[in-house]
Formats: sequence, C-alpha cells, structure tokens
Amino acid sequence: MMAVALDSGLRGEMRIDESMARHTSWRAGGCADRLYRPADIEDLVALLRSLPESEPLAWVGLGSNLLVRDGGIRGTVILTKGVIDSAAQTDVNRVRAEAGISCAKLARFCARAGLSGAEFLAGIPGTFGGALAMNAGAFGGETWPLVVEVETIDRRGELHRRSPDEYRVGYRQVEGPRGEWFVAATLQLAQEESEANTQRMRELLDARGEAQPIGQPSCGSVFRNPEGDHAARLIDSAGLKGRCIGGACVSEKHANFIINSGGATATDIEALIEMVAAEVEQQHGIVLQREVHIVGERGGVQ
Ligand SMILES: Cc1cc2nc3c(=O)[nH]c(=O)nc-3n(C[C@H](O)[C@H](O)[C@H](O)COP(=O)(O)OP(=O)(O)OC[C@H]3O[C@@H](n4cnc5c(N)ncnc54)[C@H](O)[C@@H]3O)c2cc1C
Repeated sequence: MMAVALDSGLRGEMRIDESMARHTSWRAGGCADRLYRPADIEDLVALLRSLPESEPLAWVGLGSNLLVRDGGIRGTVILTKGVIDSAAQTDVNRVRAEAGISCAKLARFCARAGLSGAEFLAGIPGTFGGALAMNAGAFGGETWPLVVEVETIDRRGELHRRSPDEYRVGYRQVEGPRGEWFVAATLQLAQEESEANTQRMRELLDARGEAQPIGQPSCGSVFRNPEGDHAARLIDSAGLKGRCIGGACVSEKHANFIINSGGATATDIEALIEMVAAEVEQQHGIVLQREVHIVGERGGVQ
C-alpha cells in the first residue's frame, strides 16, 4: 500500500493497492486498485470530474455491511468515513448530515440538540451514507421514514437534491436514480428533552450488547429476516451455530452473524454464507436473502 501525491489540485488522499481488509468490519478481502478519501464535497466533485468516464467506482462508508472478495476491486473506491461528515441543525426539528458521519455520532448530535427519532442509529456501526443506502434500522426505527431530502452526486460530479418520493425503500433495501451516491440528507425529528433521548440510546446499546457478538469482526446480520420469521432462528434450528469454514464461523451468540475468528479470507466467508443458505433451504424450504453486499473479484488472497 502506498500513498501518492495528487497533482491536479485535489486535496484528498489517494492510495494505490489498498487492502480493503483495513476498511471492512470483517477485516478480510482483497485490495482496491485505488482508494480516495476526499477532503470535502467540493474535492469529491473535482475528483469525479477528473476521472475518465470508464473508471469503475465503488462507494464505501465504514464497510460494516460489505464483503470485498479476495481478488479485490478494480477501479476507484471512494471512502467517506470520517470525511464529508458535518452535521448541522437547519431548523427547529431538522438536521442535515453528510454521508461520512458515523451513525453513532449523528445519533448523539440529534440527542444533544433535543431532537428524538434517531436514537436507533446509535448502535449501527456504519456511516450515515451507508444507512441511507441500506435503509438501516434497529429496534423498530428505520432511516428513511426520517428523511425529507437527500443530496446525491453522480459520476460526473454533478450534485442533485432529491425527494424521498424518488426512491423505492424497503426492508434493508433502497432503489433510486441509478449512478448516484449519497453525499448528505436532511432528517425531520421530534422535539424532546435530550436526557430522555440519551437514556433511550443507552438502553438500546445495552440490549444490543446482550444479543450480539460485539467486538468480534462481523458484518452484523448476514441475511434479511424472511416475512414473519427470523433468519437467526432458522439458522440456529438448522444446527449451524458454531459451523466454520476456514476462519469464518457462524456465531454461537447470534446465528445470523458470521464472525472472522482469525485469518478468515473473503472466500471462506462467502463459502460459509452459501453453505448456510443452502442448509436452511434444504431443512426449512426457505430461501434466505442476503443483507450483506458482496463486491469485487473472486481470486486468490492478495
Ligand atoms: C456488529 C454489527 C451490528 C449491526 N447492526 C445493524 C443493525 O442493527 N441494523 C442495520 O440496519 N444494520 C446493522 N449492521 C450493518 C451495517 O452497520 C449497516 O448496514 C450500515 O448502514 C452500513 O453502513 P456502512 O457505512 O458501513 O456501509 P458500507 O458497508 O461501507 O456499505 C454498504 C453498502 O452501502 C453502499 N454505500 C455506502 N456509502 C454510500 C453512499 N454514501 N452512497 C451510496 N451508497 C453507499 C456501499 O457501496 C455498499 O453497497 C450491523 C453491522 C455490524 C458489524
């Protein structure tokens, strides 16, 4: 991995052959040809304007719902975490936040502003951009019901303001105008005393710690819950808890989590995902749909 100086007036950081294991919560996966951390939205616009139309692009926030295959990612990865990350109260009950802010920081910002509705974001270990892309949710709360406007960027660096009506939003699924990525969104929240919000966030975080293998590398829930059931229940009752391929294991604590118990490759993880889905289908006749996104090329470990 090497950092390169940019000569075109760009202010962000470009890295070549960057291991994506450093940028995904599974701590596994191959290298990106190029990885760019923009300095701010203006810098991102300048980068996208300077890239050839043919350059493949991939977007990564905190990589907490992403498996990058061992063959890596061709083209340029845009990494938003910790950059493009401001938040501001724009009205009595509205907050505009940029895509690279962590969900936890955004939840705290809203609570401190005396605004409620975003507490569920406190325990989601991703960026706000990732939450918009996934319609992240927990404990009955979801991202998109709060959204009143999104700001996106296309591959030519054009910025767009869009209304939620332009998106088809479902359970951990969002479809909108193709070839655009989120740079910011405005949330509408309710006014509520901040101590109550902070207390609710604490309770949600405690509940999460009890049910999930927090602290072990994972991507959270691998599969979506099928209508009227839970993927974890189906996997558990198929006897798959503790099942491993290489360093990838089905968590003993939460059957819908696959953990990297040490040295797992992306190939191990993907093979275990496929094995779990096949066993559940065979034993329960239910085809589990993946929540986790898989990107990149198959191949040997780089
Ligand atoms: C321990 C643990 C617990 C979790 N608990 C929950 C939970 O309770 N609820 C829940 O919903 N999820 C949960 N997750 C999954 C994950 O945190 C969420 O899906 C989160 O929203 C992903 O955000 P991210 O920034 O990490 O996205 P990434 O993993 O970086 O990316 C996910 C997808 O979003 C796309 N993307 C990222 N940023 C942008 C952008 N700015 N514009 C367009 N597309 C973008 C990526 O290209 C990719 O396809 C958990 C994960 C872990 C590891």
